[in-house]
Amino acid sequence: MLYIESGVVPLRKKTKTPRLFSYEEPHFDEFVRFLSPDKPTYLFDSNALKARAKDFLSGFPGDIAYAVKCNPTRRVLQTLSKSGISSFDVASLEEIRQVRKVNPAATLYYMNPVKTPESIRAAYYDYDVRIFVLDHRDELFKIVRETSLAQDLDLYVRVALPKNPSAQTDFSSKFGAEFDQALELLKLARPVSRKLGISFHVGTQSMDPQVYDRAISYVAKMVASAGIEIDALDVGGGFPVAYEGLQPVPLAGYFQVIRESLKKNRFDDLHILCEPGRAMVADSTQLITRVELRRGDLLYINDGVYGGLVEMASWCGLINPYRLVTREGSEPAEPCRSFRLTGPTCDSLDMMAGPFLLPESVAMGDWIVFQRAGAYSQSCRSGFNGFAAADVVPVQVRPPLSRRTE
Ligand SMILES: *Cc1c(COP(=O)(O)O)cnc(C)c1O
Repeated sequence: MLYIESGVVPLRKKTKTPRLFSYEEPHFDEFVRFLSPDKPTYLFDSNALKARAKDFLSGFPGDIAYAVKCNPTRRVLQTLSKSGISSFDVASLEEIRQVRKVNPAATLYYMNPVKTPESIRAAYYDYDVRIFVLDHRDELFKIVRETSLAQDLDLYVRVALPKNPSAQTDFSSKFGAEFDQALELLKLARPVSRKLGISFHVGTQSMDPQVYDRAISYVAKMVASAGIEIDALDVGGGFPVAYEGLQPVPLAGYFQVIRESLKKNRFDDLHILCEPGRAMVADSTQLITRVELRRGDLLYINDGVYGGLVEMASWCGLINPYRLVTREGSEPAEPCRSFRLTGPTCDSLDMMAGPFLLPESVAMGDWIVFQRAGAYSQSCRSGFNGFAAADVVPVQVRPPLSRRTE
């Protein structure tokens, strides 16, 4: 590999744009100024994603199906496939196509509880999907009808969980069968399932690992009441990452709770699965935005709620770790004060209240870089008001010289 003592190095060059950049950790600000992006720009570090995939593969007691909606970009799907992730949780035909394009042999879990008949048919006959979720008897009939009573279906009953106050968004308000409905669905689905499973989602960004134990124990009660054998248990996504003011215990702590709960509830012989989205990809990507105007404590930046920052909307409220990179390379003047941010569209909903603590000297042309921006950012960009454009720059982060051993 190219070995350069310091600074920013464009590695492999294509024709016009360098395809991969390398920089040393301490030279990050220099790197941003070198790029000087005038559009929202994602820095994607495939090594960080590989490391996270390895954490899941080696630590979680079961299979990993990456939740594609969180970040469906080709580079992410490719990197995960190369890292040994061979299952994907998809919600639409488009996501099915996106995965098949980079990984034709992947196992696809079609985990949207409400699917169109046409998409079920196409999934089964055109894309070899055999695994479907349902949370209502009409959906079960739909699946059986559209696959012409196929004998090779793996069906998962998605159950609603008792409320989870530790999640950013509780995922049981929209989907999931209640206890009694779930019993009925298990009975109805058993005879038409090759494998029968139960799935749930504890809610995204769940800060309390014990929610997984409560959910697994709840499912155990359900299985006992139904008097029906299941073959698989899918504990969903919901694993958190650190945002401002939210410091979760490490992933290993979650895996430990899940492992113990599976054992306690005698589920350890089942096919176990999880569907991480956020915790898999968040760390792989940073997002560089630029300050276009300052009005008092309000900074107009070039990305916002309709772009890559929807989860920072005032009405959502996750705040990615962030740092200011000054245009001129000057040390930003202290002290810090609190700012609000607003995106480039002309809608006043495009507002991020923060508060964001930034140096008093912040000015037009400076960049604000958001870390852990790999989740629900690229996938949520809307193009509203003409602001769809964003760049992606693949990067490799090298440790500082002092820590190198070569
Ligand atoms: C969104 C979603 C996930 C991923 O959730 P994260 O909180 O991002 O881990 C997993 N499974 C299903 C069914 C989902 O809808």
